[in-house]
Amino acid sequence: MVSSRVKLINESATVSMSNKAAELKAQGKTIYNFGIGEPDFTTPERIIDYSYKLAKEGKTHYTPSAGIMELRQKIADKMKTKNNMDVSAKNVLVTPTKFSLSLALYSIIDPGDEVILPSPYYVSYTDIIKLNEGKAVTTPTDENYEFDFDQMKKIISPKTKVFMLNNPVNPTGKVYSEKSLRQLSDFIIENDLYLISDEIYEDLIYKGKMFSPASIGEMKERTVTLSGFSKSYAMTGWRIGYMVANEDIIKASNKVQQQTLTCAPSVSQYAALDALDDEEDVINMRNIFNKRRERAISLLREIDDISFYEPEGAFYIFPGYGMDKSADKLSMELLDKENVIVTPGDPFGASKHFRISYATSEDVISTGINNIKDYFKKMN
Ligand code: PMP
Repeated sequence: MVSSRVKLINESATVSMSNKAAELKAQGKTIYNFGIGEPDFTTPERIIDYSYKLAKEGKTHYTPSAGIMELRQKIADKMKTKNNMDVSAKNVLVTPTKFSLSLALYSIIDPGDEVILPSPYYVSYTDIIKLNEGKAVTTPTDENYEFDFDQMKKIISPKTKVFMLNNPVNPTGKVYSEKSLRQLSDFIIENDLYLISDEIYEDLIYKGKMFSPASIGEMKERTVTLSGFSKSYAMTGWRIGYMVANEDIIKASNKVQQQTLTCAPSVSQYAALDALDDEEDVINMRNIFNKRRERAISLLREIDDISFYEPEGAFYIFPGYGMDKSADKLSMELLDKENVIVTPGDPFGASKHFRISYATSEDVISTGINNIKDYFKKMN
């Protein structure tokens, strides 16, 4: 009954885990959940209040499809001052970040075009590429998650059109240096590719600095930069983000948006407008995430059987292990035996790994990671 295109894509990797967790919760068990990919904070009150006020004033209608002009302008100003990008409101399309991934691909690739994806990668990328009839060509990064240019040169073909980057990276927490990103940009220019740069975790950096490749002169026209409000302002439910690109890509994406979503939710756009006025909440939440990051790292270091890259950004840690067991099995056992939810690594393109999200309370972090430690002890 369903199309072959939809048959090719997978359900979310965490669905069976959440079903199982719901079952255990119903039995009265306490679950230590490291599976969640969103801030556990409520959206800052001032943002909620502002959007409520504007909704009461009647701002509850369709907006221009590319977004309200004031917001597009404010996003362009932010890209100029914080990301060093030479852009104007015409280069901005307001849309949910995840949808912007589809819009960008839909606007750039033809069926069968290839998209280079460094692994480990954000779970949804491979399926979003398939949905847009592209072909994901994965390329492993090295032990520090740096790009392997020798390998990347080998997989370039006449069909290669796009390089897909996420920085800071979900699931590893890697933050790329300006030097690495300049090398990547040289590779992209040499091979005449487009770059889709998903920078949704740009405000959650604890070590190192954000660098946007679109700030490089020759990259400006060939880069689509994506970001949003979900992670920085704890606004996942508002479904609001944006893409920044050359005017042709923005116009093409806007056409697709007009015929699909119409426009991003009006009340969320007003919320976003207010969010950009003040960074204090972002800084407070970042400080809390950083404390949790440090706690999680020091507890995980006590487990001999795992190794991991010390994350510099986002809110994830991605440990690998040696034991001969699939990550699916390990995750199910962690839930069954220790009431701990982690996300198996395979859908991120890395076997024998699991992802921990530390966007949860310090109590959950302490007890949950101790339970993981117990699990590995018992397995030895
Ligand atoms: N990109 C990455 C790397 C993400 O982790 C997420 C959310 N998990 C998204 C995009 C999608 O963001 P949003 O929910 O704001 O659409």
